[in-house]
Amino acid sequence: MKKIIGFMLAFLVITGCQAKDDEAPVLSLSKSRVQIALNESIDYLQYVEKAYDKKDGDLIKQVNYTTIDTSTVGKKTIHYDVKDQAGNQSQTDLIVDVVEYFGDLINPVTAQADIVENPDDVTVLVNKLHEIPEGWKPDDLEKVIDCSQKLRHEANEAYTRFYQAAKVKGIDIYTISGYREPETQELYWNNVVKVSGEEHAIQYNAYPRRSEHELGLCVDVSYTTEGDRLSEKVADSALGKFIESDAYQYGFILRYPKDKVRITGYNYEPWHIRYVGVELATQLHNENKTLEEYYEG
Ligand SMILES: [Zn+2]
Repeated sequence: MKKIIGFMLAFLVITGCQAKDDEAPVLSLSKSRVQIALNESIDYLQYVEKAYDKKDGDLIKQVNYTTIDTSTVGKKTIHYDVKDQAGNQSQTDLIVDVVEYFGDLINPVTAQADIVENPDDVTVLVNKLHEIPEGWKPDDLEKVIDCSQKLRHEANEAYTRFYQAAKVKGIDIYTISGYREPETQELYWNNVVKVSGEEHAIQYNAYPRRSEHELGLCVDVSYTTEGDRLSEKVADSALGKFIESDAYQYGFILRYPKDKVRITGYNYEPWHIRYVGVELATQLHNENKTLEEYYEG
């Protein structure tokens, strides 16, 4: 009998030592949403940042994924999953926008855009793949300092401080364009397409309901009212340098930087500043990130 109890105890000790693995592996991606060109092939595993299990170690080679069809434009999803030896599973998704490119610019006409749920939020992401809901308009627009253009109240207060701080440094800001009615943007787009063609419109204009100007949170500024006032010359002016160095302190970001065209979907615009609030603007400035990278990795 003693022997049997001894065996039972030994058995309990042994099985007790083999801690049950009920913890799922970590599975993380480097991005939550990416854009790829029509017909481009995908290296699915390049987005897997980590597939790791406490017990089994690195599981990158065991990651499974579903494939997507890149021969048609649209919003698609890749599902990733990984299992450890005990059968614990983790899964995650990557949203892929298959888009048509003209150079580095997304063609908004064929792109499938999400409708944003938070157009009132000053940090909202609006671009060629994120559209303002039909019929939405800001309800707190007010006139901009020294100008007939309009901005939303919070953005306007910040802009006034920015404008006055520039003046103290001897920099005059000319406000070229603030809020734009959706109807105006639509008319504008249709006109450009009619006169100069769709490809020209894609290069130089924003698609209706996908322009930040319809949010009342951005403003085009220049150092002059003459000639090509909205050109790369703005970048070399004292105003351009003041935007680069100080705008974030007032809650504004340079929305379309030179080295991020493929990410923002817009050409370099050293004159277009967007209000996102001081906290987010400071973070984006310090991390050298666009709004797209902030939301999508
Ligand atoms: Zn602009």
